Amino acid sequence: MSKVYLIGAGPGAADLLTLRAARLLAEKAEIVLADDLVSDEILAMVRPEARVLKVGKRGGRASTPQGFIHRLMVRYARRSGCVVRLKGGDPYVFGRGGEEVEALALAGVETEVVPGLTAGISVPAAVGIPVTHRAYTQGVTLVTGTSGDGCTEPNWPALARSGTTLVIYMGLSRLLNIVARLIAGGLPPDTPAAAIASGTLPAQRHVKGTLADLPARVCAEGLTSPAIIVVGEVAALAVEAAGSQDPSIRTLAA
Ligand code: SAH
Repeated sequence: MSKVYLIGAGPGAADLLTLRAARLLAEKAEIVLADDLVSDEILAMVRPEARVLKVGKRGGRASTPQGFIHRLMVRYARRSGCVVRLKGGDPYVFGRGGEEVEALALAGVETEVVPGLTAGISVPAAVGIPVTHRAYTQGVTLVTGTSGDGCTEPNWPALARSGTTLVIYMGLSRLLNIVARLIAGGLPPDTPAAAIASGTLPAQRHVKGTLADLPARVCAEGLTSPAIIVVGEVAALAVEAAGSQDPSIRTLAA
């Protein structure tokens, strides 16, 4: 029986992959079970002899049930040499890596986790937002904006009072609701906020404003998932979107 590597592919850009991940993909992988979020540029780094299966999981779209992914991993681990489970960002940050390692352990399959850059930290950085900064905040909270799939709703009032930067994953489709709850929880409506879509990829776009006007800005700019939302003083440090004033520059940058 072989080992299953749970590899974090980072936020998107292939050169943000770790050296360990790149080496395993290019030299060892025989079967790769890849998430939707993994970019084509990264899939192109996989050994040409390897078989790549896309087992998409993305909010709002039909996705492969998690139990099926567990069974696939176990089946391939029993049959093949080196099995890679390739995930966007870091496998242990909203990536179900914990569940997958548990399922593999139950089936007696050895695993190794290769961390990746998580979107919540690397995507804000791509637009000049440091998630912590001594002048503004003493911490950062990474939180999911979804409450589906059997998960409980985050405690928005407590988050509103946390005094930390809030980095919200998977929050775009519920942005209006999240903003309303944070404001009801006591966060001032003029708190700086930003949303960044497809961070580190050629399609990267972002908007910045205040908590209260972020939903309208996201809508006006037509930002779509995957996106990270940042709420807190540090969001004001986002650099202006390239070409946001001049449509011809945006076309060149796209
Ligand atoms: N394990 C991943 C997160 C998976 S959950 C990680 O550590 O980054 C999927 C969510 O991650 C998306 O809905 C979005 O909120 C965020 N995300 C992932 N890649 C992104 C990117 N390139 N740009 C913006 N958000 C991204």
